[in-house]
Amino acid sequence: MGMYSPLLPSPGTSNLMPRLVMKFGGTSVADLDRIRNVARHVKREVDAGYDVAVVVSAMSGVTNQLVAWCKDASAMHDAREYDAVVATGEQVTSGLLAIVLQGMGVNARSWQGWQLPILTDGAHASARIQDVNGAELIKRFDELKQVAVIAGFQGKHEATGRITTLGRGGSDTSAVAMAAAIGAERCDIYTDVDGVYTTDPRVVPNARRLNKIAYEEMLELASLGAKVMQVRSVELGMLRNVRIFVRSSFVKPEDIDPKANFIGTLICDESEIMEQQTVTGIAFSKDEAQISIRRVQDKPGVAAAIFGPLADASINVDMIVQNVTADGATTDLTFTVPSADYERARVVIEKAKSTIGYERLDGATDVAKVSVIGIGMRSHAGVAAEAFKALAEQKINILAITTSEIKFSVLINGSQTDQAVRTLHALYGLDKG
Ligand code: ASP
Ligand code: MG
Repeated sequence: MGMYSPLLPSPGTSNLMPRLVMKFGGTSVADLDRIRNVARHVKREVDAGYDVAVVVSAMSGVTNQLVAWCKDASAMHDAREYDAVVATGEQVTSGLLAIVLQGMGVNARSWQGWQLPILTDGAHASARIQDVNGAELIKRFDELKQVAVIAGFQGKHEATGRITTLGRGGSDTSAVAMAAAIGAERCDIYTDVDGVYTTDPRVVPNARRLNKIAYEEMLELASLGAKVMQVRSVELGMLRNVRIFVRSSFVKPEDIDPKANFIGTLICDESEIMEQQTVTGIAFSKDEAQISIRRVQDKPGVAAAIFGPLADASINVDMIVQNVTADGATTDLTFTVPSADYERARVVIEKAKSTIGYERLDGATDVAKVSVIGIGMRSHAGVAAEAFKALAEQKINILAITTSEIKFSVLINGSQTDQAVRTLHALYGLDKG
């Protein structure tokens, strides 16, 4: 991670207006009517006295279309040209929003990633931000009261001068990086939901919106299947201590009372959270696959022979369970991979059969991972044990388990996912508030 240059004005030399980053996702800028709605939200904050940097996504569906065109043009396309293509969605929305803001009498201009610049490494299609220059924006806030409308998702690789993109969902990360770079009071993430919930409300209708959640918890939720924010954006927020507020863009700007508490979820340092519950949320993912290697030789070096080739093939192995050997010579080994990598993983293991030495390979893609998250688990024992009992009472079989300091996950049959999520949500009293 490189250096950020917030260039905070020294006291007495600037009017010291508080700064705000407002990020709007694809559904919030899906057409011109919605872009006008976004502009009214921006004007509301400008009128309240903020210097504002807006970060926008592409209109919903546009990035998917651009990605599809690249794949269609050539399955083996040049990643640098892929980035040149997929970065365009955000160029359109940044320009359109600036036009609409100007029409409302707000001084605004658009910025592409390469213009600021937002500098990244050279990992095209999933580049990491290395440095953001906020100096020019701050100068324009102070001298011109100019709103900056920034194309999310994109940056520039300095060594080659080429346009890069930050991976799907990357405009969240653009927004958090901008907030750090300009020393913003908060980074507001406007989306199609009004915050972060204890679990997916489509599965548990009485799931609750959390008022606050700690960075660590949000990081686990996002990594384990909740699709609210890009994982890297939460990581960056934690690292740079950016307060992130997830809120709805569908609330009418005129209905927001600037003096009342805003509705949404604040992602912040755990020290800001007074009433800490043991369990904060439940995440689940059906994009899991399980591979079991039967009767592997039980001897040193076997795990390396299995997981080495998988790592070389860039396949992420998650849960690993090795059974106790029954005959003293062989054992069963089970692990999970993302379902998108399932076929590839099988091929890798079959190729290495002679070095590993096993009898049979079994696999299943109809499995799901359900995870329980909460920093309160650090100081409470037995949280997982309660879950195992409750799941057993529901006749839900656990295929694998992993635990860490603030979460545990169970692998179960995919058809029982909703039932397991509801059982655990009720068990930890998450519907009660
Ligand atoms: N438009 C990009 C995507 O769909 C980036 C983003 O929306 O965050 O992945
Ligand atoms: Mg998104």
